[in-house]
Amino acid sequence: STFSEYTPPVIPDLDSLKARLLWNENPYGPSPKAAEAFKNAVEKGNHYSWNTLNALIQKIADKEGVNINQIMMGPGSSDLLEKTALLHFMKGGNIVTGDPCYMSLVHVATATGGKWKPIKLTSRYEHDLKAMEKAIDSETKMVYITNPNNPTATTTPAKKLYEFCERVSEKVPVFIDEAYLELSENGLQDSMAPLVAKGKNVFVSRTFSKIHGMAGLRIGYMLGNEEELKKINAITRGGMGITGPSIMAASASMDDSDFLSMCKMKIKETREYTFNLLKSKNIPYMPSETNFIIFPVDMEGDEFLQKIYDRKIAVRMFKFWDKNWCRVSMGTMDEMKLFAEAINEIIV
Ligand code: PLP
Repeated sequence: STFSEYTPPVIPDLDSLKARLLWNENPYGPSPKAAEAFKNAVEKGNHYSWNTLNALIQKIADKEGVNINQIMMGPGSSDLLEKTALLHFMKGGNIVTGDPCYMSLVHVATATGGKWKPIKLTSRYEHDLKAMEKAIDSETKMVYITNPNNPTATTTPAKKLYEFCERVSEKVPVFIDEAYLELSENGLQDSMAPLVAKGKNVFVSRTFSKIHGMAGLRIGYMLGNEEELKKINAITRGGMGITGPSIMAASASMDDSDFLSMCKMKIKETREYTFNLLKSKNIPYMPSETNFIIFPVDMEGDEFLQKIYDRKIAVRMFKFWDKNWCRVSMGTMDEMKLFAEAINEIIV
């Protein structure tokens, strides 16, 4: 893969940004109920949080249809991606992923001694499941798929993915990163979690950072085969890194379905607005069902970044498939209007 990222200009004061569209955050979060639960839990900060953590695990088990031993909690899903990579690649091997893909698990896999086998997405921007299956060899320790994918925002159809996971997990563990799935049209209907419930060697990760708007509160979880999770927990325990207030906030947020639907709806509105902007400029963006959009830019990445950062708007620029790409996260409608103004000025 030729995947790389342009280094953005340094932002001395993040609060001075007019539009913060670089980290796929949720501009509406956290839910007021989650914030309240967080504040109330601070006073119990002298206690370890095992009771409340166990209650949250039970709540997640009920929601996902798995048992409590098929859940591992972490301070954000990054922590779980990285721990999984550590365990699987400490004796080398290779990891098969899409190209491009979200790099946090891959970075740890390669830093630990593993090799990366990226397989280009299809012309419809789906994971090329046939080619990925072919790429598996005797050294393959894991297949990693993000659905919807990052940085492309594109979706691989759930039915195809389910069949792939069911078959391939007989050979190697398959890790499905569902950080953005709740924001997609079908939402959790398209989850691979039922495969975990069936005892397959499949991991599914989720986070409170995206639709729940709690990126700074650091909490996420992973579902997986009981025996596999035991091996990871033996090296580094799941729940130890999470704070009590974040546990209470996560639990309250799970109950606030009105807030979650509001976020999904508003993000869809800003996505439609941004699609219309890009259409009006004849820019061939990739389809997205989530809270960011990627589109090609016919300009040097550094130049584009400088121009848009000069307008106090932060986005990301990647390079892959011999093109430069701008990835823009969905902010509030006001932020997207500023983004539109900037695009209309920079791209003529
Ligand atoms: N997975 C994907 C695909 C992501 O894009 C991100 C964050 O942007 C994460 C995982 C990690 O998020 P967190 O550690 O906040 O749960």
